[in-house]
Amino acid sequence: MSKKISIIGAGISGLSAGIFARINGFDTTIYEMGQKAGGVCSSWDRQGYSVNGSIHWLVGSAPGTDLYDLWHQLGVIEDNTFHNHNSFIEYKNIKGQDVHFYTDTQKLKKHFLDIAPEDEKIIHEFIQAIETVAKNSFPMDKAFELLNPWDWTKALLSNLPFVLAVEKYNQLSIKDFAQYFKSFVLKSAFENFWASEMSMTFFLMQLAYARKGTAGYPLGGSGKFVEKLEKRYRDLGGKISFGKKVTDIIIENQSTVGLELNNTEQVKSDYVISAADGHTVLFELLGEEYLDDNTIEAYQSLKTFPSLIYFSAGVSREINEVNPSIVGINLPLDEPLEVGNYKHERITFQVYNFDPTLAEKGKTLISAMIDTDYPFWKSLHDQGETVYRAERQRISNALVETLEKQLGNIKNHIEFTDTATPITYKNWTGNHNGSYEGWLPTPEATKIKLPKQFKKLDNFYMAGHWVTPGGGMPPAAYSGRDAIQLICRDEKVHFKSSEL
Ligand SMILES: Cc1cc2nc3c(=O)[nH]c(=O)nc-3n(C[C@H](O)[C@H](O)[C@H](O)COP(=O)(O)OP(=O)(O)OC[C@H]3O[C@@H](n4cnc5c(N)ncnc54)[C@H](O)[C@@H]3O)c2cc1C
Repeated sequence: MSKKISIIGAGISGLSAGIFARINGFDTTIYEMGQKAGGVCSSWDRQGYSVNGSIHWLVGSAPGTDLYDLWHQLGVIEDNTFHNHNSFIEYKNIKGQDVHFYTDTQKLKKHFLDIAPEDEKIIHEFIQAIETVAKNSFPMDKAFELLNPWDWTKALLSNLPFVLAVEKYNQLSIKDFAQYFKSFVLKSAFENFWASEMSMTFFLMQLAYARKGTAGYPLGGSGKFVEKLEKRYRDLGGKISFGKKVTDIIIENQSTVGLELNNTEQVKSDYVISAADGHTVLFELLGEEYLDDNTIEAYQSLKTFPSLIYFSAGVSREINEVNPSIVGINLPLDEPLEVGNYKHERITFQVYNFDPTLAEKGKTLISAMIDTDYPFWKSLHDQGETVYRAERQRISNALVETLEKQLGNIKNHIEFTDTATPITYKNWTGNHNGSYEGWLPTPEATKIKLPKQFKKLDNFYMAGHWVTPGGGMPPAAYSGRDAIQLICRDEKVHFKSSEL
């Protein structure tokens, strides 16, 4: 009889774990507290628009990398059309100058040199670093825990320039790197990049993937993407049970033997994989006695990606004046906008003029991810619906005003606005402090390795964006696969990556 695996959470990591578990012959059920799959990778309908709630780019969208093979095995490449942008992010009007982060590095170099000839040396270094990172072919098809010394030696030696670059740029945040520019314009562009406390390595990796044309956007957005993933899992015979919140992990003799659901029901299994919020699972469902000191310290010291105001709006006109880019167009505000304890002087909007499937012809979906803090919104929410709604409305109004001022002819075309807050993220997916992508990959975080198994607990494995600082869809997907590779190792069976 096949061994049984219970998976907590039907996000990208849970579905990935489920798919590889089925391919390898395990009996699987995913227990998901919500009513649909996808977790933070989701879309929702508003007034005829489909709001894309996550994917801006999918690393591994083009052939030639291990990540592409992974998405292929997960069934999300076929029948998908990927849009490749020619720019990573567009800045409008930094002291009168527009800045384009072209994905073509030669074009980017020329553009930066035109803006700031005085920064020639650092511009060359930056471009060279993107090229070096783009050449990396570090293996991504096996859990790091399963690489033997020979695998490591081979990988390190064949990627030496990349390894040296990582060593150097891991120490610097994007904000630190910005200080090397004499030009106010370029300094400001780097400082205003999304999550600029991230280590430069992550920034370079993003630009390198975009430069290689393997960071495409799947038309249809997150909802359509997850539908494909869920279909693949179900076609393989996988089961999902919705509306089942895992309220306890049942442990006997230092080994997980099942789950408690909704405080009432119990299900037995041979293995448990956590593909849900790390903090909840480790500190509420398990307990510190099963954890090692490094994990406890990491959870106390690491910074999470800030939570978000996720603003979206439906506009009943075409917006062709914005050049599409991976992250979006970064616009200046007339007045700084306070969003919780964060003060924003510029906001990045994604204008979906490149995805005709998200709105009717002649209409455009716009969204914006605005960093904010969970405690502020928690306190506001606790004060009652009226105060909470009023603050959301104030922010929404300010964003519409900005769009009106910068793009023009927006206000009288608005068909809906929607403003999700950190409370929405927390209630909907359980992620700690409403974080949307797990741990922020700061220079400090790059030194920390989070375990997927614990010595004091058998038959339990961790997956999801909480096991890899930097998070995102590729780590969610490969950590789900890693968990099955580790189970196969422990079962002493050969891991298969496809059913053929
Ligand atoms: C606005 C936005 C933009 C993004 N853009 C990108 C991008 O362009 N590219 C990219 O790579 N990544 C992007 N990401 C990040 C990416 O979507 C996530 O890192 C990834 O989807 C996380 O998947 P996960 O399975 O690890 O976690 P989650 O999506 O959090 O899934 C966990 C699941 O577990 C469930 N759960 C939690 N607790 C329990 C419980 N007790 N019992 C049962 N179920 C439970 C939750 O409901 C959820 O469904 C973005 C995210 C957001 C929000």
